[in-house]
Amino acid sequence: MKDKIIISGAGLVGSLWAVFLAKRGYQVEVYERRPDMRKLGGDGGRSINLAMSTRGWKALEKAGIKDEVMETALAMKGRMMHSTTGELTFQAYGKENQAIYSVSRAGLNRKLMDIAESHENVNFHFDMPCTGVNTRSAAIHFKNNISEEKSTLNASFIFATDGAFSAIRSSLQKTPRFNFSQYYLPHGYKELTIPATVSGDFAMDAESLHIWPRGEFMLIALPNPDKSFTCTLFLPFEGKSSFENLNTDEEIMHFFNSYFNDAVPLMPTLLEDFKNNPTSSLVTIKCNPWHLQHKILMLGDASHAIVPFYGQGMNSGFEDCTVLDELATKHKENWSKAIEEFNQTRIENADAISDLAIRNFTEMRDLVGDPMFLLRKKIAAWLHEKYPNDFLPLYSMVTFSNIPYADALKEGKAQDELFEQILSIFDVQKRWNSEEVIRIFEKWLKEKN
Ligand SMILES: Cc1cc2nc3c(=O)[nH]c(=O)nc-3n(C[C@H](O)[C@H](O)[C@H](O)COP(=O)(O)OP(=O)(O)OC[C@H]3O[C@@H](n4cnc5c(N)ncnc54)[C@H](O)[C@@H]3O)c2cc1C
Repeated sequence: MKDKIIISGAGLVGSLWAVFLAKRGYQVEVYERRPDMRKLGGDGGRSINLAMSTRGWKALEKAGIKDEVMETALAMKGRMMHSTTGELTFQAYGKENQAIYSVSRAGLNRKLMDIAESHENVNFHFDMPCTGVNTRSAAIHFKNNISEEKSTLNASFIFATDGAFSAIRSSLQKTPRFNFSQYYLPHGYKELTIPATVSGDFAMDAESLHIWPRGEFMLIALPNPDKSFTCTLFLPFEGKSSFENLNTDEEIMHFFNSYFNDAVPLMPTLLEDFKNNPTSSLVTIKCNPWHLQHKILMLGDASHAIVPFYGQGMNSGFEDCTVLDELATKHKENWSKAIEEFNQTRIENADAISDLAIRNFTEMRDLVGDPMFLLRKKIAAWLHEKYPNDFLPLYSMVTFSNIPYADALKEGKAQDELFEQILSIFDVQKRWNSEEVIRIFEKWLKEKN
């Protein structure tokens, strides 16, 4: 048996990382703050789902569980926009066979724990929150929530996968030259439900991610295997249309009838859900370095929590696992070297997807209903069709490729310049696929290369 490794946090990234380390033959001890979710049953009352895309699938494939997860995943081939008058517009995410997939967060977490635990060299310890780190010795403190017993543990390496409010990161923040930033959007979110119809069908098209873009706010809905949809309302905390102004039944119903009229009849428990479900905040966290003494390393939300508008939080955390695993192979399991290179190369990519996610919020809530934006999407798809090797739309780079996020962001900025030129062509609506567009594109391509 190889060295002992501790993982703190058995969420999505921690459980997946345990599988990667188990396969390499390490003794893996995973400590989790909460009780074992597999013994609690259900989805904790709610069926929260996540969009899985290429980077996430790649990591699951490496862990050997892609096919199993895919069995219950639902393909969403594009966005279905709902206008205020109930008109529907479908916009494909990519090419014919490309889709993002709705997966159950709890189902995936349970599956990852089961697979990790099926390796005899992995042990899970529940009700064991980490309470901090001794930053001199790089030992880690835990408290048993049941017995109240405190312990200090050490291992050859410690991975912090304890999420956006990481206890390990809190300790690291007190070390010299540790950079940290935390930014809350003025918007919060609340989860709501569209159940299956009485005849047991999906109430809306099941192959789409539904969006009700309304400028300052929006509603989205993702399908679940039980034929319900999990909806998420993103709304400012304060202001005219905001959570602070939705208190009475009348206010809530008036708001929904005004802006999401076609969704209301599909939401029989709307008032109940709205009043009972929490309003949560949306935080972006960046920090640097991600490690302490090349011995403790943060992965996933612990080091880079992002807003959910590109559907890349989990995907980027899973990509952390792929990248670190590749570096471990490259450096022949000299983890100090792997951690050093990971820290050097990965942070700029995490920063890039963090910026892209905020930018995509504007796109989703505001622009998806804008005719010029839709025209840009149409031209981008056409250029990709015509020049598959030279032009890949930004959304496809992020969602359907493994191109480093920082490269995608850079290319996205260059594409903004290209479209500024194309969209200023006189009468571009009629001449969107003209020789002039091709001329501008080819000049842009030449200058870029
Ligand atoms: C509304 C919303 C929608 C989202 N949609 C998507 C999406 O569509 N696609 C996508 O890719 N991502 C999405 N995300 C992001 C995704 O949920 C996160 O990026 C992902 O869960 C991060 O995984 P993680 O394992 O790093 O952290 P977490 O999932 O937060 O897991 C952390 C674990 O650590 C445990 N823990 C916490 N503190 C301690 C402690 N002190 N000691 C021990 N254990 C501890 C927690 O109990 C938990 O089990 C969304 C996020 C939100 C908020």
